[in-house]
Formats: sequence, C-alpha cells, structure tokens
Amino acid sequence: MNPDATTRLPRASREPVKINYMSPKVGTLGALRKEVDGGRVPRRAVKNEIRENLIRKLRANEPLFPGIVGYDESVVPQIVNAILSRHNFILLGLRGQAKTRILRALTSLLDEALPVVPGCEIHDDPLAPLCAACRRRIADAGDDLPIEWLPRDARYVEKLATPDVTIADMIGDLDPIKAARASLQLSDEMTMHYGLVPRANRGIFAINELPDLAGKIQVGLFNILQEGDVQIKGYPVRLPLDLLMVFSANPEDYTARGKIITPLKDRIGSEIRTHYPVSRHHAMQITKQEAWTARDGVELQLMVPEFVREVVEEVAFQARQDQKIDKRSGVSQRLPISLLENVVSNAERRALATSEPIAVPRVTDIYAALPAITGKFELEYEGELKGADNVARELIRTSVGNVFNGWYPTADLRQVTEWFDLGGTLQVDDSLSASELLARTAAVQGLQDLAREARLGKKPSDPMLAAGVDFVLEGLYAQRKISRSEEGQFQSAEQVKRAPRVAQEPLAEREIPNLGNKKKYYN
Ligand SMILES: [Zn+2]
Repeated sequence: MNPDATTRLPRASREPVKINYMSPKVGTLGALRKEVDGGRVPRRAVKNEIRENLIRKLRANEPLFPGIVGYDESVVPQIVNAILSRHNFILLGLRGQAKTRILRALTSLLDEALPVVPGCEIHDDPLAPLCAACRRRIADAGDDLPIEWLPRDARYVEKLATPDVTIADMIGDLDPIKAARASLQLSDEMTMHYGLVPRANRGIFAINELPDLAGKIQVGLFNILQEGDVQIKGYPVRLPLDLLMVFSANPEDYTARGKIITPLKDRIGSEIRTHYPVSRHHAMQITKQEAWTARDGVELQLMVPEFVREVVEEVAFQARQDQKIDKRSGVSQRLPISLLENVVSNAERRALATSEPIAVPRVTDIYAALPAITGKFELEYEGELKGADNVARELIRTSVGNVFNGWYPTADLRQVTEWFDLGGTLQVDDSLSASELLARTAAVQGLQDLAREARLGKKPSDPMLAAGVDFVLEGLYAQRKISRSEEGQFQSAEQVKRAPRVAQEPLAEREIPNLGNKKKYYN
C-alpha cells in the first residue's frame, strides 16, 4: 500500500484568530497612554506595522504565506519588496492563481490586536481620534475612556469591483435617518455614513477586479492614494485615513487602454504578476491541499492512486494550452481541485453501490466527472463548434496519454494489444466492482502484470489493482493502440479502422482468445 496514496490531509483552514489583548490591564485610555509612552504597545501607521512584522518574520525565517505553493521564487519576493517599500500594490493574474488568498493572508502581518475606541466605525485610534463622536467621548471621559482591542482579522476589508459600485458605497454619504433620529443638522458630522474605505481605516483595503470599477470611483481612489485622506460629499471635514490598499486584476483588463485611469495606475507602487503552477508537482501539491478528499462520516477507506492525481492535474495543464479554450480568461486551479473531488465521489458512489470497503478512483472516473470540468473554461469559436463535453473528453484523453507515457515509457505493451488484435473485446464501465472488473479482464494476458507496475503497492487490494488495470486500458486507448466505443467496449484499433460497428455482429463467431471459464464479454 502506497502511504502517499492515502488521503488523510485536513482541509486547509485559515489560522485561528488569536485575540491577544496584550495586557488585560490596558483597558482604558490612560493605561494605553502609559504603555505607548513606555514603548510597550507600538503605535505606528499600518504600512510600517506590516513592514516591521514582515522584517521580524524574515529574520526568524518564518514562512510568510503558508499554503501558497509554487510562488517562493517568483511572486513572494516581489510582494516582500512591495511591503518593504511601503507600496500599495496590485496582483495581476488570471483566475484561480490564489490572488485573493494572498491578499487575505496579508492580515497575518498585522499586529495580533490593535487598540481602538469601542464602537467606532472607523476604528479610531484612542490617542488621536478622527471622528467627532470619538473626540466628544474622549472630552467627556478623559483617561477613563474604555478602549477595545481589535483582532487583526477584523482589520481587512475586501470588495469585489463591479460597475455599479458607487462613491457612497466606497467613501460614504450622509445618512438622513441618522440625522432625523438625533435631530441634527444634515451638515453635522455626526450624520455621516461611512463607506467601505473609511471602515477599513487602520487596516488593509482590498479591491478585486479593479478594472471593473467605474472611472468616477477610480478618480476617488486616486485621491485617497494621492492625498491619503477622504472627504465625504457635503461635509467640510477631511479624514486622513491610514490604510494599505491592495488590488487584483486580470492582466489583459488592467493593461487595456482606457480601463484604468493613468493617474491611478501611477499611484499603485508595485505591479506583481501571478502565474499558474509551473510544474505538475507543485500543481498536485496545491490540489492535494485544497481538494476535499478526507471524507468523514462514511465507513469507507479512500485511496487515490498517484496516476489518477497526475491525470487530473494534467487536464488543467492541457486546458491551459488548448487552442479551443480562451486564454484570456484562463483555466483556474479550481478545475483540478473540483475535478479531483468529483472523481473521488464517483469512486465513493461505486464503492457504496458494490459494498466495497475501499474506494479507489480510476481513470474512468475522470471521464465521469465532466461536470467538474466543463464550467471551468470559456471556449473559443472552434471549441464552441465541438461542444464543451467533447472538448473536455479530448482533454482527458490527451492527459491520460501523456501521463501513461510517463509511467510506461519503455513497457512492452504488445502482449495486451495483440489480444485485442486477435479479436478480443472487453465491455467495462465505471460502475463495475473491482472484483468484476478484474474477472472480466483476467483473460487478457499481461494486463494485470502491467497494471502492477503502476506503483500500486506490494500487495494491492482488488480496488487498487482494478484501478491499475483501468489505467492501462485507458492509456492504450489514449495512445490509440486500442479503441473504445462510447459504450465502453475496448477492442482492436485496427478493426475499427477497417469497418467500425458493422464488424461487431459476426465477431462472436470468430475465434477469439481463450477467456477461460470466465463469462465472455464480447457481443
Ligand atoms: Zn471614531
């Protein structure tokens, strides 16, 4: 049994929020002032805070972005440079390149907790409040004003840009209801309704798909980046905000003329390109980490053969270079992740239906998992003509062929193909139990021996061996050494070339290789 094949990986999760209240004694403004003056509680701008925490991690050689795989030599150093430079920055990349995930991971570079005025919507610094309400409270309570410690996860605000986002959403506007309730003048500062940007004050503000923001909003953002403050329409006050602004965008949208106003582009300090995994090894690592394969609640052991993982991954690599698939929208890493989940489910379903204690996904299960593929890419015209299902099937077939080639570079496959050339046929499908599949294929000399070469372990279980047999058959089919009908009947490649279908009827009469005492599967 190959230990690598057992999936016992926990689902990747975000670090638990550690609320460190620094010192519970620091519960009032007076106490906080003492701590800050004594240098025990740091007080600095967000970009400095992130920079200093990053430097500490770099010195300690701590991992910066746990769970982000394959970026150690490309993207991560550029992000480090941007943070060290105290830049606002943008990640440019196609979908499914972990852009959002990286932006969210920036919170790990914030202090564990930050002192704020309790209840303030813009997380005012108790030592220098911006809003009128906080200033009034401090004037009233003085050093007795209670303070609150805000956990770092609460200091991250994220917005997906869409064309209908308004200035009011982003910056804010006046709230007439607030005004009416408190019977205030509309121009009173207390009637302000804060938008997302002021609410991210003293934290990180992330905008995904930046080019989808209307030009007017981009101008608003430019002002914030330029002046470092915002002014809510209708009020004389300017709020000097303290923010790290980060963005993400599709590179083509971002670089297309007119999508982003030039002054805004100019104010974004660093432009960092993300990419898809360069190697299949990295890609498999990501998929293994992200896909939900450690299924609880069912008394069923799950083993995923390495070659199945490779084929799943190869489907994404093939899709990314296929002419029939739109390159500008890309093929997300979510494709192999969803695909593996669906492949595992098909194996689970089979094991449940056949009462087998071990579920082992087969290559055939990948064909059964088309629903996890077809929605994950946009087709070019040529692809549209073929249809998404056919494009996906071709991708799988090419992928199986490539992976099979890697596993059997020098194997002698003739013994198996000759069996088919002599007229042998095999009817199989993904619903067959392992024992049934092995019984049906037992007569094909050399087949199970070849299957055992697919690193199935020393004494493979039936479901594991069945998966190996299925791999060899699908591999031979992918390399066009044998053929397979839509109904899952494997037969000689030659025979199909000569006379497809029609040859099937008299086949039973012909001499075929000895199938022993097993049931005969030709028709
Ligand atoms: Zn306030």
